[in-house]
Amino acid sequence: MSSKETIACLFCQAANPPTNATCAACGQSLAAARTVRYLDRAEADIAKGQYNQARANLTKADVVMLDLSSEQRKSLLLTARAFYLHSLIYYHKGQTDEAKDELLLALQNLEDQPSHANLLANVLNTLGNVEYYREHLNAAFDYYQRSSEVAIKGKAHLVAAKAIANLGNISGAQGNPDASLAYYDRALVAAELGNDPLRVADIYRLIAYVYLKNGPVSKALEYVTQAVALRDQIDNQAALCRVLGDAGNVYLKCGELDQAAPYLSEAYEIAQRAEYRLMQVVTMMYLAELAHQRGDNATWLNYSVRAFNMTSSVVVWRSEAALQLVEYYVGQQDWQPAHLYLKYIEDNVRLHPTESDRIHLSHAKVLLNAALDQWDEATQSYEEAISRLDQTHDRFSAAALHQQYAAMLLRQAALTHDPTVHARARAVLEQAAAAYRQLGLTARLTDVESLLNRQQSNLLNRLKRIKHPQTALWCDTSYTN
Ligand SMILES: [Zn+2]
Repeated sequence: MSSKETIACLFCQAANPPTNATCAACGQSLAAARTVRYLDRAEADIAKGQYNQARANLTKADVVMLDLSSEQRKSLLLTARAFYLHSLIYYHKGQTDEAKDELLLALQNLEDQPSHANLLANVLNTLGNVEYYREHLNAAFDYYQRSSEVAIKGKAHLVAAKAIANLGNISGAQGNPDASLAYYDRALVAAELGNDPLRVADIYRLIAYVYLKNGPVSKALEYVTQAVALRDQIDNQAALCRVLGDAGNVYLKCGELDQAAPYLSEAYEIAQRAEYRLMQVVTMMYLAELAHQRGDNATWLNYSVRAFNMTSSVVVWRSEAALQLVEYYVGQQDWQPAHLYLKYIEDNVRLHPTESDRIHLSHAKVLLNAALDQWDEATQSYEEAISRLDQTHDRFSAAALHQQYAAMLLRQAALTHDPTVHARARAVLEQAAAAYRQLGLTARLTDVESLLNRQQSNLLNRLKRIKHPQTALWCDTSYTN
């Protein structure tokens, strides 16, 4: 603080010399104004990902605040805001239990306080995020709903945009893409009312994901292009990291590897620099997938292992990370580590039985059993995974799984000369083709159609030359709004 800087009284707005303890005009303590200043700094630190500095400023705020009565601290929302900022630090570091505790304390301190729409809506929205994170979708939906109502009523457009977009995320997770797009449209209106390019870019990113999973993917590419075009106006590192990382993922999933690479590298650098552990895991997994697609096995393994190791503290993507390693070791026909990582997924499902983890478990079993010619087991896991994917309407993942399973059936048909197995393989390939057609993924569609056009005897040779479709790992970052 420079000596020329004045401090504005929070009670009467009079400017005071920085050395004053009480306001020269009204006699009230200037501790409130000083607390707000430290809280503002902490908030700016959090936006830059500088958590240690944010904690230091929050500690200063806590000390200065003690000069005020508890009633004053509460009515000026200082206590609630401090709890909220603490929660954000935990949340970004992936410590959701701690984040939730702080948020509930913030909520307690906001009860029966007038004129607090913005903060209350933010607290409710972040509570929704924490619940979404644990796949408690109904609880998350309720928090987002409450948040959006408070925000709309208080004309807090930016928080309204976040909360409404999050309602869209839940609709998407529950397999309702149309409802999801309708929420995103409403969220865009709120973001534009609030004149916030960061939020607009973030909503474009979310819309892109809906089109990526449901088709046409050309629209997904359109929306990420629009999101990235706003990057210079995004002053929040976490938001920028998400926009770039997800843009990279959309290009990656569409097979545009050279376009994907620079976005993924940049997102990874930001995530590392700012210690966004969640985004570090996500971007490493995407970089692993990129290396896989490029046939660079050493890099594929390197990023996969590092992502997996990091999930010991960020459990949310542990199963995805393990699935990626199952796929790697199955590709190397190295069965022992493949089984080991399958077991990690099984353990994870036992501890945190979420729907997405169950899909990953079935998917991993398909890969491993198919490679070991354990056909019945593979079929059972395939059917289980597909029925779960149908619930989420994730056409992209379903198509990849159809294709992987059909590859096994074709092998089985060639080895057993069983015409019914061959017919089944063709039927599954037709399903993959239909999904790719709806998605508008022409390169993949061509692969599958060329398989369908071959005679049975030539299929196996042809199959060997076709690139393995990667498991569609999402690491959905949509809830971090
Ligand atoms: Zn005053």
